[in-house]
Amino acid sequence: QSKANGKNQTSLYKASIQADRNTRARIDNELRKAIISNELSLVYQPQICPVTNKLTGVEALIRWHSKELGEISPAEFIPLAEENGQIVELGYWVLKEACSTLKKWQKTFSTHINMSVNVSAAQLANPMFLKTVHQILQVSAINPKYITMEITESTAIADMDNVRSILEQLSQHGIQISLDDFGTGFSSISLLRQLPLTSLKIDRSFFNELKRDSQDWLIIKAIQELGSAMGHKVVAEGVETLAQLDLVRELECDVVQGYVYSQPLAQTALEASYFLPQDSKIRSFG
Ligand code: C2E
Ligand code: MG
Ligand code: MG
Ligand code: MG
Repeated sequence: QSKANGKNQTSLYKASIQADRNTRARIDNELRKAIISNELSLVYQPQICPVTNKLTGVEALIRWHSKELGEISPAEFIPLAEENGQIVELGYWVLKEACSTLKKWQKTFSTHINMSVNVSAAQLANPMFLKTVHQILQVSAINPKYITMEITESTAIADMDNVRSILEQLSQHGIQISLDDFGTGFSSISLLRQLPLTSLKIDRSFFNELKRDSQDWLIIKAIQELGSAMGHKVVAEGVETLAQLDLVRELECDVVQGYVYSQPLAQTALEASYFLPQDSKIRSFG
C-alpha cells in the first residue's frame, strides 16, 4: 500500500510540476504582449519625512492586469521576467513611464520630489543599459538627480565588478542609488564599501514586530548610525502602525515608506492626496 501511495505522490508531484510549468509558460507568453496591450501600469508609494510628515518622493511599483490571467503580482512575474530576459524591456518601460509621470508632476505642481524605480541585475547586465537610461532621461527632460535606482543585494553581488562599474557611471551621471531590502542578505555590510550608494532601505522584516530595545531595534539603530555617518539617507520600509512609526522617529530614520502613511497609489490618487490643495479637493466635491 505504501508503495502505491508513494507512486501516487510521485505522479501528483509530477502533475503539479507540470501545472507549474504550464502556468509559467502562460505567464511568459502573456507577458510578452503586456506592454503593447497596455496591460501594465505603475503605482506610486509615498516616501515621507517622519519629522515633517512631508512627501519627499515616491517609489514606482509595477502592476500587471492581464486580460487572460487577471491581476498578477510583481512578486510572481518579475522573477520570471528576470529569468527569461523580458525584464530588460519591462525595465525601460517602467523608467519611461515613471519619468513621464514625474515630468507631469514637475510641470503641473512645481514639485521637487524624487522618483525611485527598481532595477534588476539583468537590466544592469544589458550592454545598452547606460546609453538607454541616458536617452530616456534626456527625452523625458528629467534631471537625473530626481531619479533613484533601487537595487537589491542579490543584484549587487551577481557580477560585482560590472555592477559596481555601471552604478558608478550612473552615479557620475547624477542618478541616486539605493540598496533595497537592506539587511536580508549575506554581504550587506561589505557592499557599503564597494558601491556608490546614496541611501539604504532597511528591509521591512525589521519593522514587522518592532519593539524598543529588541534585537530588531538594535540592528536598525546600528544601521541608521552607520548609514548616516557614511552620508546615506536611511529609509524605513514597510512601517505599518503608528506605534512602529513612533519608534522609527526615535531611531531617527530619514524617510518612511509604509502602509502607516499610504499604500501604493495610482497616479491620480496620489495627486489628489498630495498635490492638490485641500480646499480644491473640497470644492471638487461641490
Ligand atoms: P520592493 O522594491 O521592496 O517594494 C516594496 C514592496 O513592499 C511593494 O510590494 C510594496 O507594496 C510593499 N509594501 C510597502 N509598504 C508596505 C507595508 O507597510 N506593509 C507591507 N506588508 N508591504 C508593504 P510590491 O509592489 O508587491 O512589489 C514587490 C517587489 O516586486 C518589489 O519589492 C520589487 O522587488 C519588485 N518590483 C516591483 N515593481 C518593480 C519594477 O518595476 N521593476 C523591478 N525590477 N522590480 C519590481
Ligand atoms: Mg524597491
Ligand atoms: Mg524593499
Ligand atoms: Mg522587497
